[in-house]
Amino acid sequence: MTSITIIGPCYNESDNIDEFVSRITNILEKLNLEYIILLVDDGSKDNTWGKILEHCEKNSKIHGIKFTRNFGHQSAIMAGIKFSNSDYVFFSDVDLQDPPELLEKMYQKITKNNLHVVFGKRIHNNENFFKKYSSILFYKFFNSLSNIKINEQTSDFVLINKKVLTELKKNKDRDIFLRGLIPWFGFKSDFI
Ligand code: UDP
Ligand code: MG
Repeated sequence: MTSITIIGPCYNESDNIDEFVSRITNILEKLNLEYIILLVDDGSKDNTWGKILEHCEKNSKIHGIKFTRNFGHQSAIMAGIKFSNSDYVFFSDVDLQDPPELLEKMYQKITKNNLHVVFGKRIHNNENFFKKYSSILFYKFFNSLSNIKINEQTSDFVLINKKVLTELKKNKDRDIFLRGLIPWFGFKSDFI
């Protein structure tokens, strides 16, 4: 059976964890994948860790990692990567800004087209003016400086296969930017 690890970085997500777990679990069961959901509490100040423990008790496929303090989104995902050992890994924010149901389309795309990575791309219809335009400017600026071009409006909503996971596990950098690092590897990718 094909296996997948879902990595969910959580900073003060106690109100979103139940819905995230229920929606992602439905999709995983529909896709008939052997799964582990790895929820990383990045030094939250609310009841995020309590919620994660509740889910771990109810479902042995749900695991938690608790940071001593807030280290940031990228470190939370990297901690999940260190503990992943599956055919596929999916990173998704837990705040439900990106619908977990899209995993189905991403999984079909990666398997049918023999890809190594499928990125999610945001269309910004639910963000305020500042967030939207600062983000557009950031990608234009980044791409003007860098030889490695990254897709505009990509988010850390990404499905990777084991080859990419293996490369990420070799990474020793502490200050990482996954949206730049994954395209830099050069693996065959697409986006939805
Ligand atoms: N997050 C985290 N550590 C942080 C900030 C955020 O783990 O220091 C998590 C957060 O809970 C969410 C994801 O990372 O699941 C993205 O955070 P946010 O929604 O703030 O980012 P944005 O949507 O603005 O890109
Ligand atoms: Mg968000």
